[in-house]
Amino acid sequence: MKNYQEARKTIQQTALKAYREQLVTGTSGNVSLYDRENGIMAITPSNLDYQVMAPEDIVLMELDGAVVEGRHKPSSEWRMHAGIYAKREDVTAIIHTHSPYATSFSVLHEGIPVILVEMLPFLGGDIPLSQFGMPGTFELAENALAVMKSRNSCLLMNHGVLVIGKSLEQAYVRAQYVEDAARICHYSRQIGQPQLLEENVLEALREKYHLTR
Ligand SMILES: [Zn+2]
Repeated sequence: MKNYQEARKTIQQTALKAYREQLVTGTSGNVSLYDRENGIMAITPSNLDYQVMAPEDIVLMELDGAVVEGRHKPSSEWRMHAGIYAKREDVTAIIHTHSPYATSFSVLHEGIPVILVEMLPFLGGDIPLSQFGMPGTFELAENALAVMKSRNSCLLMNHGVLVIGKSLEQAYVRAQYVEDAARICHYSRQIGQPQLLEENVLEALREKYHLTR
């Protein structure tokens, strides 16, 4: 079997960084990579402290749930990751966090509108809110995909954040931008009413970054 050492290491390091930068707390959140050619998903294990997690703890599995290699159970949210890889061929990396500012908007049942120019190149536009799905189900993937057609992040209702990308480096920066936009939106609301980017500016930015609406 192909050696997944590099993938395991990247996942472990990304998960640890997310923990240290407080995008997740406790053992919440999960990180994965998908080797589409061989149909293998590498994902963080269930309930393991990020500070002791080693590359060898990362679980290798197929999208139907069959574990190929691993000394732990895969993340309880493996179906959310698998469901996205199965339907979106452009996605090879997924990060799920509970970053606090963004998650607080999911609790308000609000998405985050386009308040910052960086949201266009990094997130594809606003940060939509997906419908509620029970933890651990494929429904979470379906609900997220429904609002991420031309976006690469969304808020999971009363739960957290989901970010997709072509690499974990790219997905991680996006996860940081989601939290940054949520934080700025939160702060601006403390001192007034946030003003959104105007439609003609949005149109120019979409053109500049080759984005669809
Ligand atoms: Zn979660």
